[in-house]
Amino acid sequence: MNILLIGSGGREHALAWKIAASTELTKLWCAPGNAGIARDAECIALDVADHEAVIAFCKANKVDLVVVGPEAPLAAGIVDDLAAHDIKAFGPTRAASQLESSKGFTKDLCRAHNIPTAAYERFKDADSAKAYVRAKGAPIVVKADGLAAGKGVVVAATLAEAEAAIDALFASAGAEAVVEEFLQGEEASFFVLCDGEHALPLATAQDHKRAFDGDKGPNTGGMGAYSPAPVMTDAMVARTMDEIIRPTLRAMKERGMPYKGVLFAGLMVTPQGPKLIEYNVRFGDPETQVLMMRLMSDLVPALVAAVDGELAHFDLRWYPQPALTVVMAAQGYPGNYIKGSLISGLDDASRVEGVEIFHAGTRADGTRVLANGGRVLNVTATGKTVGEAQRRAYQAIDQIKWPEGFCRRDIGWQAIKREQG
Ligand code: ATP
Repeated sequence: MNILLIGSGGREHALAWKIAASTELTKLWCAPGNAGIARDAECIALDVADHEAVIAFCKANKVDLVVVGPEAPLAAGIVDDLAAHDIKAFGPTRAASQLESSKGFTKDLCRAHNIPTAAYERFKDADSAKAYVRAKGAPIVVKADGLAAGKGVVVAATLAEAEAAIDALFASAGAEAVVEEFLQGEEASFFVLCDGEHALPLATAQDHKRAFDGDKGPNTGGMGAYSPAPVMTDAMVARTMDEIIRPTLRAMKERGMPYKGVLFAGLMVTPQGPKLIEYNVRFGDPETQVLMMRLMSDLVPALVAAVDGELAHFDLRWYPQPALTVVMAAQGYPGNYIKGSLISGLDDASRVEGVEIFHAGTRADGTRVLANGGRVLNVTATGKTVGEAQRRAYQAIDQIKWPEGFCRRDIGWQAIKREQG
């Protein structure tokens, strides 16, 4: 098969690495890709916002499947446009992408179908949102309704904080807010493959969103992750499938927007059971890096079965060993950071047992690798335990020479604490 992968992050490098190992693959391109992806795919400078150009590329190169990594092209309807030209694309349509692009849409769907989630209300003006938070009290959560790249959520500990968040949110014209109950519990990420009707559970993971050790500092796109998530026991996975995932797929089908692609449920595991915090309509980053390390089966037939509506009897095999990934970021991230610094020692690092290095934001300059983003490398390892995977990942990191970078030193601490009893 000829496959075109869209994206340029660590998630796409992990997908490219796994797709490149497929027995089904003839040729893999990635648009735009990065210096690491270039080892597994031919990187091409295609403007993915220009759907006509993507369609023309697919036709000229007989592309059999397009795999869309990030959410923005999905929300822009790339899957709809490719499908209109009979080009198979893995991912949801623009309408189905609302599960991520509109928090209000998802909350209303949960309410209509009794899917467990935080109690909430939607608002179009600051005064009524403030009246609601005063009536409910703190802690309370204020969210912008729309794609905000993780920056649209304020978990407010006090009423003053909640009101300030509401003012900030309604400072932009046309803003809408979702205000919701604060949920207490342990967070976990759960990934399922969907074909419009059936759902195949993939795996669970937990990530570290804060920039610094001890889960301190500003929120980021994710500084590390591990899989599986110990809190997601088989019983909890079964409940999540029955109470959250399957009702969502039924509801989407009824609404005439059947969901195909990967569905990433951000969950709070509460004393009452799993509750949905949010949906993402694509693979997680950095969770995909650990998922792909644990996936034993060929990924490509599963992606094709999802597009073709044939997941009903599909099965995937997983390595039981945990995997862990540490994100190396440019100093200053998630604030301002410098691009272009030199990274060396990658070959030595990748020779550590059980380690794969996925590139998230790099660019090649001849044979040199330069930092080209905020999150730059994902040093990923498997091990018999999370503790062993962590040791291997940091052993590899210690071989990498990049003074302009930093990473957290405690990725996986909750799981390791559990392992140590
Ligand atoms: P991202 O996609 O980066 O996770 P987002 O902007 O889509 O961010 P959410 O996932 O809805 O936002 O929320 C971000 C984080 O805020 C969650 O991972 C969780 O830690 C916290 N959070 C969100 N909603 C709640 C809630 N109701 N109760 C407690 N914490 C919450």
